[in-house]
Amino acid sequence: MPDTAAAKARLEAQLAELLARQAHIAADLAEPLSADSAEQATEKEGEVALEGQGALVEREIASVRRALARIADGTYGECVRCGEDIAPGRLEARPEAALCIDCARQAE
Ligand SMILES: [Zn+2]
Repeated sequence: MPDTAAAKARLEAQLAELLARQAHIAADLAEPLSADSAEQATEKEGEVALEGQGALVEREIASVRRALARIADGTYGECVRCGEDIAPGRLEARPEAALCIDCARQAE
C-alpha cells in the first residue's frame, strides 16, 4: 500500500498547477486577434500551438483527477489494467500513473 497521503498532496498540488496553466491558456486564446493581417497569421499559428498545449493539459488534469479518485476508493497504486501493484519508484516519479510499467510498455 503506497503512502496515499503524500501522493494525494502531490496530486493536489499538480492539479492546482495544471488548472492555473489551463486558465492561462484559455485567457490567451480569448484575446482578440489583432487587426493587422500579417500579425493575425502569426497569432493564429500561436493559437494552434496553444490549443495543442491546452489539449495536453486537459488530458493531464483528467489523469490526475482519476488518480485522486483511486485514492478515494482505495485502489490507488494498483494497475488499472492487470491489478498488480505499481512499483513505488514509478509512483514516486509519476504519482498519476494508472498502469504498471509492464502494461504501460504494452500500451505504447
Ligand atoms: Zn499492469
